[in-house]
Amino acid sequence: MRYLITGGAGFVGSHLAEYLIHRGDEVVVLDNLLTGSLENIEHLHKSPGFRFVEGSVMDKNLVAEIMEKCDAVFHLAAAVGVKFVMENLVTSIEINVRGTENVLSVAAEGGKKVLITSSSEVFGKSNKASFHEEDDLIIGPPHKVRWCYATSKLLDEFLAMGYFLEKGLPVVIVRLFNVCGPRQTGRYGMVIPRFVKQALNGEPITVYGTGKQIRSFLHVKDAVVGMVGLMEEKRAEGMVFNIGNPQGITIEALAIKVKELTGSSSPIVYIPYEEVYGPHFEDLIYRVPDVNRAKAVIGFQPKYSLEDILKDTISYIKESGNPCST
Ligand code: UDP
Repeated sequence: MRYLITGGAGFVGSHLAEYLIHRGDEVVVLDNLLTGSLENIEHLHKSPGFRFVEGSVMDKNLVAEIMEKCDAVFHLAAAVGVKFVMENLVTSIEINVRGTENVLSVAAEGGKKVLITSSSEVFGKSNKASFHEEDDLIIGPPHKVRWCYATSKLLDEFLAMGYFLEKGLPVVIVRLFNVCGPRQTGRYGMVIPRFVKQALNGEPITVYGTGKQIRSFLHVKDAVVGMVGLMEEKRAEGMVFNIGNPQGITIEALAIKVKELTGSSSPIVYIPYEEVYGPHFEDLIYRVPDVNRAKAVIGFQPKYSLEDILKDTISYIKESGNPCST
């Protein structure tokens, strides 16, 4: 198979590219390097089945030119991270909505299967103990600008559903839940690379809010296996899937775990959200996936624990000279 991976120089996309190349597929990465980086895919250039194209999913002609020679598309190109989105609202909406529109309409012309990566953000402020794909979604009002990301991703999901139902395009929608691991940068706000870097540098570990908010973290290697499994499963077409780790932890407990595993003497400090994100922010208390649907359809079962994620991230940050800018 020859796959197009949009956003393939990003954190998740580069791991996906690596996985597909290693098992013998061909991969074309399209990435504008806005948040992705060449270092993420440097090691893949020596593989004959790998090709990188610098460009944007906003360029429909380019998308069409590349897709013509591919069999299927993993669409990962998107605005990344709460911090980036809150500081770049218009760009984020444009990338997420127009980019996806381009990918789907070009794919429909050629009948190419598409896997759309959505996000657990779409569940919004639900306080259910675990989120199911068919739950109602509780998203805040437009002046709470955080929700622009969820809204744009949700529109992507509806668009994908529309292409599936009205045009017969084979699509799969994946909601990723806090994917972490080597190559993730803290530059766009992600908590694990930020905590690890702070702990390794002996800087204060910055817990936002009370630290009682719960997240569940999925190793990027598990995320890749889930995405590829769903792409290859006929029964997954036209459906939404949670891909995450059902094991939740508070952010406060995460900070303590990072401190322990790094042997750091960093203090843990609590910072009000307003100081970090300004007045137009609200966080969500729970975010834990129900992954039974993915388990039933492709036998999805995360292999890696939070400890594995933290150990891999710590090694990566140490080995690569602490590149995860905070
Ligand atoms: N967070 C934190 N300190 C940081 C960065 C993030 O306490 O330095 C918190 C953040 O407020 C959120 C959780 O960690 O409650 C996960 O944040 P992230 O941005 O990684 O993902 P998301 O908010 O999308 O779940």
